[in-house]
Amino acid sequence: MAIRLYNTMGRKYEDFQSIEPMHVGMYTCGPTVYNYAHVGNLRTYVFEDVLKRMLEHFGYSVKHVMNITDVGHLTGDGDDGEDKLGKMARETGRSAWDIAAFYTEAFFKDYDSLNIIRPDVVCPATKHIPEMIALIQRLEKGGHTYVSGGNVYFSIDTFPDYGKLAGLDLEKLQSGARIDVDSNKRNPKDFVLWFTNSKFGKQEMMWDSPWGVGYPGWHIECSAMSMKYLGEQFDIHCGGIDAIPVHHTNEIAQSEAATGKVPWVRYWLHGEFLLSDKGGKMSKSSGEFLTMPLLVSKGYDPLDYRLFCLGAHYRSQLQFTYQALDSAKASRRTLLEKTAQIRSQCKAVPAAASDSSLCRQLADFDDDISNDMNMPKALADMWSLVKDDSLSPEVKYAGLLYMDKVLGLELDKAVSADDDIEIPPEALILLEKRTAAKKARDWAAADQARSELDKLGFAVKDTLQGARLIKKM
Ligand code: AMP
Ligand code: ZN
Repeated sequence: MAIRLYNTMGRKYEDFQSIEPMHVGMYTCGPTVYNYAHVGNLRTYVFEDVLKRMLEHFGYSVKHVMNITDVGHLTGDGDDGEDKLGKMARETGRSAWDIAAFYTEAFFKDYDSLNIIRPDVVCPATKHIPEMIALIQRLEKGGHTYVSGGNVYFSIDTFPDYGKLAGLDLEKLQSGARIDVDSNKRNPKDFVLWFTNSKFGKQEMMWDSPWGVGYPGWHIECSAMSMKYLGEQFDIHCGGIDAIPVHHTNEIAQSEAATGKVPWVRYWLHGEFLLSDKGGKMSKSSGEFLTMPLLVSKGYDPLDYRLFCLGAHYRSQLQFTYQALDSAKASRRTLLEKTAQIRSQCKAVPAAASDSSLCRQLADFDDDISNDMNMPKALADMWSLVKDDSLSPEVKYAGLLYMDKVLGLELDKAVSADDDIEIPPEALILLEKRTAAKKARDWAAADQARSELDKLGFAVKDTLQGARLIKKM
């Protein structure tokens, strides 16, 4: 099946072709862990999850790498402001390391609750400082850097293609540039690779380097870590659209200048913003700070939010309102009830569908999801399958699971009152074991219990009321 993706580089649809046959290297910019993620951030991770699931659905093996930005991301994208973690540390009297650990854990709770498949590699910036230093040295050797006022800068004039992702007109930018706050820069668009000189006093997270004790710039982190795990050229790089003009533009400049290999990344995919109910971009600083725990405390399941996100194309803006979330919640409840009913009507255990020849809706689904991930249309295909009375429950159920592998709504865990499930005592004991292991943060033991339950034919669903066992078909 041909997969069509909208490539921000060139602003056009392209048929997807991986560098290595049936294998995809995919890098997604991860969270800056100075605070909880807001639901806007999470929208971007949901879109990236659907992309990865879609590629796997069509037979690709995907190596997914995501960074954790735990140092170097300043409050302003143009090297102005203070390190976000440093600022939080100063304001709360906690250590930056504690803040990073706390919000990384909180982030993955949100991530798991949204049924987002974890990346194969999660790489915190603070654990990859030598790789960043090596990349800066490579740029230095190639004549792409200069030191000024104690910081190492990337000189964009040494990279003629600068700005190609965002379509920046450099001449216009030069002549119309505002008086730049950083007088150390030769060109206002130059950016910092390594800071030794922060106007905010002593930074807690610092490392020795050939240029003095300091810390990396945000952009070099993603270039160094993506290339470490995916090679000097790879298939897909994603993020939210706010990353296009500065962060991703600078990542491309550094990476291509360092290796000389063009293109560094074949496909650039960007998710549009979630807007607040007042209409502006959802952010941590304006309006209600909407987090997943807040939505849960108001009675929503994280998957209600996932369904809400699936209702819009990832490249369209989406406005958050409680009314819209309520309708996603009602719709998910109906979907789960219908799925459970269909499942209980199955006479035979339905085989999982492995191709789209089963019925028209599955072929439509494949067309729609492969077409730049048209999630609203894919959802409509799912509803059409649910409502089609000409299909047997076996076909319907297998079809629902087929689609849900991509949409990730956990339909396999739908239960209805008609389900008469007998749970053997050994399964209950394993469930107890898993709960105790999770409490003790013994993840290996918790995983072990889960996989033994799996062998007994039970899946575990974590609900707000605690863990529940679901009999797998
Ligand atoms: P951050 O933790 O600030 O580095 O952001 C994490 C991700 O969320 C990035 O990919 C951003 O582009 C994305 N993002 C930030 N604000 C929004 C928003 N309002 N809607 C959707 N994505 C966003
Ligand atoms: Zn990044």
